[in-house]
Amino acid sequence: MIRGALILYLLILATFGMAINQYPLDTAYHSWETLSDSLLHYHQADRLISDIEIIGNSSAENLPIYAIHIHKSKEINNKKKKIWEHPRPSDLKKVLIIGQHHGEEPIGVEIAMSLTKELTSNSEMQEVVSNYYFVIIPTVNPEAFKIVNSGIYPLKRKNNRDTNQNGELDIKSDGVDLNKNYPSNWEIADLNEAESPYYKGTAPASETEIQAVIALADRFSFDYAFLYHSSANGTYPEMVFFPYNWGSEKSKDWDQMRVMAEWLVSELPCLYKENSYHVYLGETRKYGYARDYLYRNYNTLSFTIETSAVTPSGVSHFLPNNRDLKLIVEKHTSALINLLRNIKPK
Ligand SMILES: [Zn+2]
Repeated sequence: MIRGALILYLLILATFGMAINQYPLDTAYHSWETLSDSLLHYHQADRLISDIEIIGNSSAENLPIYAIHIHKSKEINNKKKKIWEHPRPSDLKKVLIIGQHHGEEPIGVEIAMSLTKELTSNSEMQEVVSNYYFVIIPTVNPEAFKIVNSGIYPLKRKNNRDTNQNGELDIKSDGVDLNKNYPSNWEIADLNEAESPYYKGTAPASETEIQAVIALADRFSFDYAFLYHSSANGTYPEMVFFPYNWGSEKSKDWDQMRVMAEWLVSELPCLYKENSYHVYLGETRKYGYARDYLYRNYNTLSFTIETSAVTPSGVSHFLPNNRDLKLIVEKHTSALINLLRNIKPK
């Protein structure tokens, strides 16, 4: 028993890198319980600048998917209606922030919660919350969030759909990769292996989590979307992607998104290297990505932000301890707010 535990421990060290990643997660990460508690705490009803909405539920366990709407306007002067039910000027810019699609990428949830705290609580944000309408979804994948953040399994990526239909949850293989399930190029993506971490599901938008995001996007036609990720295998360290470069075809707003992405990375120093984050300019894949779906359907200028670093020895730093998490979360919070303060209307 002890020997078995020791071997498991050594295996985890070898897999995640000693002293680089910490699992179970360090104390600063939210649990499923404290996530909703913190949202309620940041939402101060009397200030009339935020409202919490459950935009849908998860596919296997029916867990709520929380969104917080944040906006300040003199039109919003009573509690009888929710913030989203009040009239909005047609030129008000709407921003979608999604902290997490993949369970093993917990950093983005903390960035989303930090942005929520800053926008709802910091009096210096009055102008930003007046100039933009924010919808922040800390996680669209509550099933995987619960498993990773409660210390059960660090690499749970997909939702809990019983993809092999054996009537139980196979934690390492069941589920659909939610960021491959959007109805954009879904048909042509070769991701049909149900056991694969990148399994796209049985149909476009088969997952209720993705149906919830689509219904929200239909209501708001967001101007901007910021989608946080942190690749566990270290493939995309400290990078920003935007739609799309399919070789022979680039999105018509490619240049504008490139300028915004360059601006964003200029505020994002790498954790280990001297330089800043890197804007990806090469060819992008035709998968059912959120960013492609949002851009192609609503002309939303969309950014995938990969927040995990790779150490000089090549280990992916995707489950940082409290100290490094704080550094990462703080720079992303200020970089995004500074970008929104500086971008020109499209
Ligand atoms: Zn991801």
